[in-house]
Amino acid sequence: MTQLLNRPIPNRLLPVLRAVWAASIYLVAGFAWIAFSDRLVEAWFEDPAMLSRVQTWKGFFFILVTGLVVFTILLRQLHKDRTLLTLQYGQSQALRQRERQLTVLMDNLPGMAYRRLRDDQWSLLFVSDGCVELTGYEPSELIDSRRLGYSDLVDAPTRERVGQVISEAFANNEPFSVEYALIRKDKREIWVWERGRAVTDEQGDTLVEGIVLDISERKKLESELAEMATRDPLTGLFNRRELSRLLEEELERAKRYQRSMAILWIDFDHFKDVNDTHGHAAGDSVLKSVSKLFLDSVRSVDWVGRFGGEEFVIVLPEMDANEAHETAERIRDLVSSVPQPLGDGRSVRLTISVGVAVYPNHGLTAPQLRAAADRAMYRAKDRGRNCVSMAHLSPHVHNEA
Ligand code: GH3
Ligand code: MG
Ligand code: MG
Repeated sequence: MTQLLNRPIPNRLLPVLRAVWAASIYLVAGFAWIAFSDRLVEAWFEDPAMLSRVQTWKGFFFILVTGLVVFTILLRQLHKDRTLLTLQYGQSQALRQRERQLTVLMDNLPGMAYRRLRDDQWSLLFVSDGCVELTGYEPSELIDSRRLGYSDLVDAPTRERVGQVISEAFANNEPFSVEYALIRKDKREIWVWERGRAVTDEQGDTLVEGIVLDISERKKLESELAEMATRDPLTGLFNRRELSRLLEEELERAKRYQRSMAILWIDFDHFKDVNDTHGHAAGDSVLKSVSKLFLDSVRSVDWVGRFGGEEFVIVLPEMDANEAHETAERIRDLVSSVPQPLGDGRSVRLTISVGVAVYPNHGLTAPQLRAAADRAMYRAKDRGRNCVSMAHLSPHVHNEA
C-alpha cells in the first residue's frame, strides 16, 4: 500500500486531478455558501416578499463572485499559457536556427561529418552532404547500410586496426584519430583522416560520431618527400644513404639464409676529361644516361645507387664471386661499347673501372665489404682502367668466419 502511495502520479493524470480538485473546492464553497447564507437571511428577514428579493440578490451576488473568481483564474491561466507558448515558440525558433546553422556548417565542412553504430558494418545513422564528394556514394546508399556498409569501403586489416583504435579511445573516454585508405565508388583509393568519439546514447548503444577528411594530397606529398630523401636528384638512382641502408638489409638477409651476395664499386675513367672537354652539363647528361644503362642491365632484385660524383654502387643479392664477376664484366663491356649522349646531339665513349666484393669471401660487415670493393676498384685503375678487379680474400674475415 505504502508502495502504491509512494509511486509518482503519471503526468497525463495531473490535469484531471487538478480539475477534480478545483471542482471539489467549488462544490464545497457553493454548498457552504447556500446553506450558511440561507440560514443568515432567514434569521434577518422575516417578510416573505423581502426574503424572496434578498434570495434573488443573494443569487446574483453568488454568480458575481464566482464569475469574478473564474474570470481571475482563467485570466491568470491564459496569461500563463501565452507566456508558455511565447517561450516555446522562441525555443523552437532558436532550435531551428541552430539546426540550420549546424546543417550549413556540416555541409560546408571539408570532408564528411557522421554518426554511426559500432557494429561490423559501421552502419551510418547520419552523414553530411560531404559524403558524396568524399566517397562517391549518396548518403541514402550508405545510411543504415542500405546498399553497403561504410566498413565495406576499407579492407579487413584496416577494419580491425580502426576498431582497435576506437575501442582503446572509448575505454579511456578520449577522442580518437586514425588514418586509413578508403576505396571510393569509382574504385579510386583515397587516404582519409578520421577524428571522432565513441558515445553512449539514451538506449545504451555505443555510437561513433566524428568527421572524415580526405588527406590524399598530404599523403602524396609525404611519399614524394620520402622518395626525394632516398633518391639522387640528378639520376633518380638511390642516394648514398639509402643504398647503405639497402646494403645492410641485404647483408642481414644473406646472413639469415646463409647465402652469398656481392657489391660492385664503379668509378668512371677520366671523367674529368668529359667535363673539361664538353662542359659540366654534358657530364651530367652522360651520368643520367649511364644510370639508365646500369638499371637496364641488372635484375629486378638488384639495387643501383649513386654514391657521389661519378661513383656508383650496385648491390647484387644472392650472387657468388663468379656470377658477380661476370655481371661486372658484362656491365663494363656494355658501357665501353655504347656511346653516351652528351645532350647536344653528340655522344662520347666512356669506360669504367669496377671493384667486386662478395659476402662472405671479402667481408662480413657492410663497411668491410665497401672498403674491399673500393680497394679492388683502385686496383682496377692501377691495372690500366676499363677492367674489373675482384677484392682480395681477407684473412681477417676468414678468421672471423
Ligand atoms: P679516374 O677516376 O679515372 O682516376 O679519373 P677521373 O677524372 O674520373 O677522376 P675522379 O674520379 O677522381 O674525378 C671525378 C670527376 O667527376 C670530378 C668531377 O669533375 C666529375 N664529377 C663529379 N660529380 C659530377 C657531377 O655531378 N656532374 C658532372 N658533370 N661531373 C661530376
Ligand atoms: Mg673517375
Ligand atoms: Mg671518382
